[in-house]
Amino acid sequence: MSIQNLSTTPHDLLHTIFGYKTFRGAQQSIIEHLIAGGDALVLMPTGGGKSLCYQIPALIRPGTAIVISPLISLMQDQVNALLQLGIRAAFLNSSLSAEMARDVITQLQQGQLDLLYVAPERLVMSSFLELLHQIPIALFAIDEAHCVSHWGHDFRREYTQLFVLHQQFPTVPRIALTATADPPTREDILFHLQLEQARVFISSFDRPNIRYRVVLKKEPRKQLLDFLATEHRTDSGIVYCLSRKKVDATATWLQQQGWDALPYHAGMDAAQRRQHQQRFSHGEDVVIVATVAFGMGIDKSNVRFVAHLDMPKSIEAYYQETGRAGRDGLPANAWLAYGIQDVIMLRQILENSEADEPHKLLEQHKLEAMLGYCELTTCRRQALLAYFGEKSLQPCGNCDVCLEPVTTWDGTEAAQKVLSCIYRVKQHTGYGFGVMHLIDVLLGVHSDKVIKFQHHQVSTFGIGKEFTLEQWRSVFRQLMAAGCIALDPESNGGLILTEQSRPLLRGEQRVHFRAEWQPSKSLKRVNRPAEFTREDKKLWNALREKRAELASIQEVAPYMIFHDSTISEMVQFRPTNLKEFSKLNGVGQRKLEKYASHFIAVIEKY
Ligand code: ADP
Ligand code: ZN
Repeated sequence: MSIQNLSTTPHDLLHTIFGYKTFRGAQQSIIEHLIAGGDALVLMPTGGGKSLCYQIPALIRPGTAIVISPLISLMQDQVNALLQLGIRAAFLNSSLSAEMARDVITQLQQGQLDLLYVAPERLVMSSFLELLHQIPIALFAIDEAHCVSHWGHDFRREYTQLFVLHQQFPTVPRIALTATADPPTREDILFHLQLEQARVFISSFDRPNIRYRVVLKKEPRKQLLDFLATEHRTDSGIVYCLSRKKVDATATWLQQQGWDALPYHAGMDAAQRRQHQQRFSHGEDVVIVATVAFGMGIDKSNVRFVAHLDMPKSIEAYYQETGRAGRDGLPANAWLAYGIQDVIMLRQILENSEADEPHKLLEQHKLEAMLGYCELTTCRRQALLAYFGEKSLQPCGNCDVCLEPVTTWDGTEAAQKVLSCIYRVKQHTGYGFGVMHLIDVLLGVHSDKVIKFQHHQVSTFGIGKEFTLEQWRSVFRQLMAAGCIALDPESNGGLILTEQSRPLLRGEQRVHFRAEWQPSKSLKRVNRPAEFTREDKKLWNALREKRAELASIQEVAPYMIFHDSTISEMVQFRPTNLKEFSKLNGVGQRKLEKYASHFIAVIEKY
């Protein structure tokens, strides 16, 4: 049975197929624009609801919608999720056997598919294009469209050939979608995909359900464990580390502490990676410890936290990685621990990279911005949105700065001491020295190195005894974040002054620093669906067990049966008949028929 006959308006489909009450943001305008035959470029944050923008037109326009996606590992999941809704979908990529691929092509030729997902390399094959000319096509959706741009971090060469769609199928509407927001990427997409006529839909990139928090790295493992134990004892989440070695060590350590933790990085063999990804996406409380290699293929909606044990190298990366939390719209945490060593390490990686100078400079800029973000004394969300060109007038009330206002102090004099110490030492020896040595000089410590280089004879020796080592580290970190000091290209890890430091040194400018972060009293827990009475909690667990059972029979992820938010509504409203059940968010016709009775039986038992 074709869904095309079932219902006609986008809103009907939203209701009967997807079980949702209202469109979000620009969804409806995008859908109507596409149905009318227009092209579109959609910029929406992760979890914003991009898929619906082409899935509903795919059902309404005659013919099959072709969805181009680079995420081969995701296609199976995406198709499974659609089949769960009763939508006729299939995929074609290199993971299929020749026989399975032939079956899919037959279905396509016989008009039995509403949506077909294909990898870009398949799409641009002339045999495939020929095939497409023989069938009616509803639309082309180009997912992860930023892959066409060199500017971004996920460049795919095949994407640059996708302009053939415009040339060969000028009357078929095209929609390009991405969660990457910056203007150069946007321009690249419009240009390379020949989408100059497209209407551009830019959504707010705010993710109000994510709580941003940055803590100062002291004992990172212990800090992580405290965070997990107080807020995420039974949740799924991601812990990011910079190196493979650290990923392995952290995963092992978490296992020893009793967590269901799994490592994931590019050094593992493909089969094991796949297995860990599978366990994560199907599991209820699996913590995955990963390098940034993990992410592009993650569609799990109930990731409750993203924790960074190392600082990401740009705000773009940070925003994308933290954006994997809370796609279901329920409260989630983005937690980051950072320290001065991170800054030094990232700068060194950058210095030693093969990239050309302009590129290095760009990366350097991005790193500075990230640092500045960590040291903020104002609302983090406002700063993030401002970075992506969005204004927000009010502080958000859902970041650590808003929740625990920071105290600042006038650090002008301290800054001047640091800057002149760096200057004198370099003048004395000819090159820059590292943070720890400079602090020794400030504190007047006669260390071996101080004596070796005769730095006890420098005029800044011992001028900083009013502060502790920790306090000086904080001053250094914040001066680095502010771009007043930089790495000395001529020495390994040594520091020098930048142009920005001049007004400070001359006393023309004052600085205010974040008072050294107190070991923060843990923030109030984020409000989560699990914050129920004990009775509710029992029902919540029983319903999740039922979901896991139904999921494992079909070998799909539990969230494909129902999201946590739908289960949460079951606990709240306790529907005991089909009519009530159908009112829950996320319950469409198909799922009502297939699953309602199972869950109602559980509810009745309680
Ligand atoms: P994106 O691709 O933008 O990251 P998805 O398309 O995967 O986001 O959507 C994120 C989640 O939001 C999915 O679980 C989806 O079913 C849900 N969703 C999308 N649109 C709506 C809506 N109008 N009402 C409720 N939930 C929605
Ligand atoms: Zn805030």
